[in-house]
Amino acid sequence: MWKDFSIEQVMTPETLLRQLGITSPTQLDLEVIAWHCGLEIQYRPLRGCDARVVGCGDRGLLTIDSRQLEERQRFSIAHELGHWLLHRGQLMMCRSNEIESPSHSAKGFETDADTFAAALLMPAYLFAPAVERVARKEPWAQVRLLSEEFRTSTLATALRMVNLDLWPGWLLSYSKTGRNWYRRSVKAALDTVPCAMLDSRSSAFDIAYGASSAAKPRKVSGDVWFDTYASQRVQLLEHARKYGDDVLALVCATN
Ligand SMILES: [Zn+2]
Repeated sequence: MWKDFSIEQVMTPETLLRQLGITSPTQLDLEVIAWHCGLEIQYRPLRGCDARVVGCGDRGLLTIDSRQLEERQRFSIAHELGHWLLHRGQLMMCRSNEIESPSHSAKGFETDADTFAAALLMPAYLFAPAVERVARKEPWAQVRLLSEEFRTSTLATALRMVNLDLWPGWLLSYSKTGRNWYRRSVKAALDTVPCAMLDSRSSAFDIAYGASSAAKPRKVSGDVWFDTYASQRVQLLEHARKYGDDVLALVCATN
């Protein structure tokens, strides 16, 4: 059993989905789930925010910016549903940089809502078997297949794999100016902070500096990513890809 939700006094996403009898990703119909929780969804262009909820008692109206991509709309709906169930009574208008944002360091409402959203869209009891089915593929091909199946973004899917320890390593985001953020599975071989800057021996470096736009998975010495003595004895598999202006890398130990 995977536990990734710490707020005991409210219904967890998994309880909600099991209550609705959802047994496959194709059944993750957010309009039905939201309706079950008292929310009607409407889609229309919004200014200044991605999503908002206006409620009265146990019923509410969830408005989503219709100009967003479907995967983004789905995450925003699940995020707002999290606010509705966890933070009822607060006025919630969420800007795009507050939803699905691994770089925000602030704990609290937004992190809780993101955690809720990831667990609702990719419940562990459906996600873990799906990861097992694609485990032989290259790392980013696994993420792509899973994101198609669960209708989630590349970033949300990769984060979910790491947070559920289904990718036994790190997910790292870098730009030319250095590390943006990283997430680490508890199964990762090294419990240390990754290098502040990209190493020129990594394929992520080539992508960041425009020498290539994609890379094949590659085995590298541990000190390419971690600047410690112990890391030199570890061999890592790295798979990097461009993500907007940045580079995302999935990295794990091979020995
Ligand atoms: Zn929010």
